[in-house]
Amino acid sequence: MKYVGAHISASGGVENAPLNANEVGARAFAFFTKNQKQWVAPPLTKKSIDAFRKRCEEFDFKPHQILPHDSYLINLGSPDPDGLGRSRHSFIDEMQRCEQLGLDRLNFHPGSHLGKITEEQCLDIIAESVNIALERTSGVIAVIENTAGQGTNLGYRFEHLKHIIDRVDDKSRVGVCIDTCHAFTSGYDLSTAEGFERVFDDFDRIVGFKYLKGMHLNESKKAFGSRVDRHDSLHRGELGDEVFRLIMNDPRFDDMPLILETPEETLWAEEIRFLYSLQR
Ligand SMILES: [Zn+2]
Ligand SMILES: [Zn+2]
Repeated sequence: MKYVGAHISASGGVENAPLNANEVGARAFAFFTKNQKQWVAPPLTKKSIDAFRKRCEEFDFKPHQILPHDSYLINLGSPDPDGLGRSRHSFIDEMQRCEQLGLDRLNFHPGSHLGKITEEQCLDIIAESVNIALERTSGVIAVIENTAGQGTNLGYRFEHLKHIIDRVDDKSRVGVCIDTCHAFTSGYDLSTAEGFERVFDDFDRIVGFKYLKGMHLNESKKAFGSRVDRHDSLHRGELGDEVFRLIMNDPRFDDMPLILETPEETLWAEEIRFLYSLQR
């Protein structure tokens, strides 16, 4: 089964996310469990948690159709002790919010070395951060997203994802999410059938499909290999439609959230219909 949806607004309370997702015809959704631009947020209220769970049941969204995204402020590989402490604290808080909502996965960007430590040192710190968060929570998988490799962000090579996974103690609670825009601009050519096959063969060999817990389906405003992260709406970018047709017809992407993070929310309903129409 393919579960396609979008990164939906949860403004006014997390309980609005399943409602907003249902309104655009989504069968999956992503959302922020708190304001993504602030370090500290008030805890989720019981009322909000109950309403979220009730609406997920009402609209038939199961945990494997939901992929919350962590705050952009968090850097689990920070070379700065204060920044690292704050990031770890905030990440644990977000994992706990997922637990409270009955969710089983949280998507995060691995981290940035800020030019102060090596890539390898940074990846080691990220793995340690994940181990700490997993020790203090239960039932939620930490899902590492590949990145475009903009600035000093790591996660732009499958080897980075593997490096982290190798150092996580509980392998049952670590996963990955592949963003099509990030993959393309970081140098993985998904625009043709041959490219797609090669990239996902590499992915399977280096990381392994068993770790794949979700996908972000985005077009790219920027060129192949540019290492710039600018999502575009479907049909408008540099990537083309072929990659989405291939994903929608490949059982390796079944039973996980397939999330649009495209910039025009007025197009989401249409984009979701388009993606389903690609299925043979
Ligand atoms: Zn992301
Ligand atoms: Zn993404």
